[in-house]
Amino acid sequence: PQHVVVVGAGMAGVQTAVALREQGFTGTVTLIGAEPHQPYDRPPLSKAVLLGKAEGSAFDIDFEALDVELRLGVEVTGLRADAHEVDTEAGPVPYDVLVLATGANPVTLPGSEGVPGVHLLRTLDDAVRLGPVLERRHDIVVVGAGWIGAEFATAARQAGCAVTVVEAADRPLAGALPDDVAGPMADWYAESGAELVTGARVARVAPGEVVLDDGRTLPADAVVVGIGARPATRWLDGSGIALGADGSVTADDRLRTSLPDVYAVGDCASFPSARYGERLLVHHWDNALQGPRTVAAGIADGPAAPPYDPVPYFWSEQFGRFVQYAGHHAHADAEVWRGGPDDASWSVLWLREGVPVALLAVGRPRDLAQGRKLIEAGTPVDPERAADPAVPLKAA
Ligand code: FAD
Repeated sequence: PQHVVVVGAGMAGVQTAVALREQGFTGTVTLIGAEPHQPYDRPPLSKAVLLGKAEGSAFDIDFEALDVELRLGVEVTGLRADAHEVDTEAGPVPYDVLVLATGANPVTLPGSEGVPGVHLLRTLDDAVRLGPVLERRHDIVVVGAGWIGAEFATAARQAGCAVTVVEAADRPLAGALPDDVAGPMADWYAESGAELVTGARVARVAPGEVVLDDGRTLPADAVVVGIGARPATRWLDGSGIALGADGSVTADDRLRTSLPDVYAVGDCASFPSARYGERLLVHHWDNALQGPRTVAAGIADGPAAPPYDPVPYFWSEQFGRFVQYAGHHAHADAEVWRGGPDDASWSVLWLREGVPVALLAVGRPRDLAQGRKLIEAGTPVDPERAADPAVPLKAA
């Protein structure tokens, strides 16, 4: 049996090791992670961990029992494919099969790097640093009204901080959802007592304040930047591995990279979606759970492994609401609302030629579960019946 080396001990790396053992792989598995902590789950970082309701979010996995060699606090600095080796601070590590699972790094706000009081929210260390910031119940400026910004603002309001969210676009989640769907979510901020400033950019961050490009100055005991994440692939420059313009490792439909015996999975990798007819880079938890099964099958079964063609799924908990999304709506030709944004719960179903391709559910987990099945199966629905929130989502 062979030696599989997995680089990155987040969700995707850990699940790759688990899936290899589940699929009966008996070779050596080495999991190398840069962070010193026991591998942990990220979603709780902007929720329970941030609010001090949970100590941490370490995965409940017995690596010893799985016979997985964990090497934590070790950064991998380079890949030499000809030699079948990766380089680490602690020396080279040979592999037969390599899995890249290095995740993503948060994008920093230009000019804010190193300014005291400016935070990102990606790691356990970030969340632990932000705990006492929330406890001070002071003025906080959040930059970016995306998923992370919304979840952080929710926690900060719950902790009793004065929160201002600055968003360059004219609405929250501008990159993720269409105008008519995301627009009403602006009210959620106001309802929670947070101020949402749209159409404004941060010109300058100084200790204690944020200056906007329209001249406004916002007091800021702390600034939390949530303006996106970029695949952590810089260390692969010069390795010969193909990367996309977005920085992702451009994997194929079995999550193989352009180099032999090298796979890529999770937030660091994009893949061609046969279902949606375009390459997808998914930065969500479910992709870091499902992708590893394809990688492990590829390693264990070779070319017989089925292609990776998921219906992407994620959830977010913000402003007291449970928001879920399945699919990919980019090429939809119709949008069906089940209820409206003024209702306590509602959902939106996107169709293409009568077939569901995506669904957003706000407080309607049953819609999500039913819709996801229809999307997976590609079964047409009757748009008129689907628009009745009292009727379960069903095939036409
Ligand atoms: P990561 O979790 O980023 O793990 C990669 C690991 O690789 C890191 O530990 C990193 O230190 C390590 N690494 C990087 N480079 C190297 C190197 N050169 N050498 C060694 N190690 C390296 N998704 C949802 O669907 N719902 C949610 O509610 C949700 N909430 C989230 C909240 C927060 C605060 C964050 C940050 C993310 C959230 N996500 C959520 C997204 C989800 O957590 C990610 O999609 C998932 O963590 C991706 O897993 P990954 O293993 O690909 O990457």
